[in-house]
Amino acid sequence: MPIEKIDLDLCDGCGLCDPACPEDVIRIDEETHKAYVLYRADCVACYNCEIACPQIAIYVSPLMGTPVTPAW
Ligand code: SF4
Ligand code: SF4
Repeated sequence: MPIEKIDLDLCDGCGLCDPACPEDVIRIDEETHKAYVLYRADCVACYNCEIACPQIAIYVSPLMGTPVTPAW
């Protein structure tokens, strides 16, 4: 569960993080117009949302990532 938080004081509801997520983790609340994490357990720590956010409101924690298991 690497996506740790979305700072709602910084989020301006631009919506860029929602389509940037390949795992459909983030949504925009229609009433508050703020981003929120809907499926936290599906986050794969790709950092797309953090990179896409112009307000630097999203924090993805490497420490909370799932360890990658070697194929051999
Ligand atoms: S780090 Fe990647 S998978 Fe996780 S919420 Fe952000 S865009 Fe989605
Ligand atoms: S990209 Fe950043 S500012 Fe835009 S909706 Fe997502 S969290 Fe909010």
